[in-house]
Amino acid sequence: DSVFANIAQGPEDPILGVTVAYNKDTSPNKLNLGVGAYRTEEGKPLVLNVVRKAEKLLVNDQSRVKEYLPITGLADFNKCSAKLIFGADSPAIQENRVTTVQSLSGTGSLRVGAEFLAKHYHQRTIYIPRPTWGNHPKVFSIAGLAVEYYRYYEPNTRGLDFQGLLEDLKSAPAGAIVLLHACAHNPTGVDPTLEQWEQIRQLMRSQGLLPFFDSAYQGFASGSLDADAQPIRLFVADGGECFAAQSYAKNMGLYGERVGALSIVCKSADVASRVESQLKLVIRPMYSNPPIHGPSIVATILKDRDMYNEWTVELKAMADRIITMRQQLFDALTAKGTPGDWSHIIKQIGMFTFTGLNSEQVAFMTKEYHVYMTSDGRISMAGLSSRTVPHLADAIHAAVT
Ligand code: PMP
Repeated sequence: DSVFANIAQGPEDPILGVTVAYNKDTSPNKLNLGVGAYRTEEGKPLVLNVVRKAEKLLVNDQSRVKEYLPITGLADFNKCSAKLIFGADSPAIQENRVTTVQSLSGTGSLRVGAEFLAKHYHQRTIYIPRPTWGNHPKVFSIAGLAVEYYRYYEPNTRGLDFQGLLEDLKSAPAGAIVLLHACAHNPTGVDPTLEQWEQIRQLMRSQGLLPFFDSAYQGFASGSLDADAQPIRLFVADGGECFAAQSYAKNMGLYGERVGALSIVCKSADVASRVESQLKLVIRPMYSNPPIHGPSIVATILKDRDMYNEWTVELKAMADRIITMRQQLFDALTAKGTPGDWSHIIKQIGMFTFTGLNSEQVAFMTKEYHVYMTSDGRISMAGLSSRTVPHLADAIHAAVT
């Protein structure tokens, strides 16, 4: 008998499991709005032209070898990543108060940050928004942090519960870590305004709470890399500490290359350098050092003005297509006279719309219309096209009437 004979069947990941179910469906009308990956108007995955261009340069460069990177990753990539998120002229970078390490996309960056905090930070409690990306509680608790929630979403308005958020952060213990979605909150698509961010910053600084930003969608929310980084830059501008986990999965379409970075902004260069030495001790026993291909693509693009500009144009086109899909879905429901207020579809931003549909309605849409999405009613707008909007509108209409 196998030594694993009694092992229990594990549950499917709630987000990735949607695609597993979708793949089994044989209907020609099936629609996958579960996974958060960009699709073209034709429903195809997209490799950016500028990425193809960078890859050609890399492949043709005979001087490039496949040696291991340092534990902290590709130095050029780390430098460019810090500038991208904190701003090219960020005083914190100029004062060498920022340590940046390359990690395995957004998830790996969050995990390295979590492991570092569990080992070296005195307050091992992290507050995450309710709701949040389903992997957040697991990443932080498995690293040894206690996970608590702060109010974020108000179902009645399908907007931000700003008072609840402030109250919950006010009653958090001094020093607690607070996870903040930098922009395009997943799954709700609801972000604080800049004025609200400023209030959050003031409250957090006065309570001594430690900000940990998850930036998985820079450029994807508004189409502007700078605008989407504003909340983080507000926090860094006050001179205080700040964590930022960056992912290039969405904004450069590098999903499977697993390219990301963790930056820790410290109060002095001396502290930053000791923090980095400890990050290396966290990373070494996890995976020794990160992969080389993905960050080389990113560094090639970010270091070249023309390629950088080309990237921003392609990124804006992706963001604009998503915004167009929002409008088309809203218009389709309005034209059908579907009961209810659907204005949140055009108010929310980023990759997802939090439709407000409940799990029974979602199950109905999957069964009757072959529309796949997470059971919380989140749909990926990037998975929609002009061709499929009417089918989704039919499904929603039938689910709510
Ligand atoms: N944070 C959030 C909020 C996300 O939505 C995602 C991707 N779904 C990630 C982090 C991490 O993604 P990745 O590891 O692919 O960069």
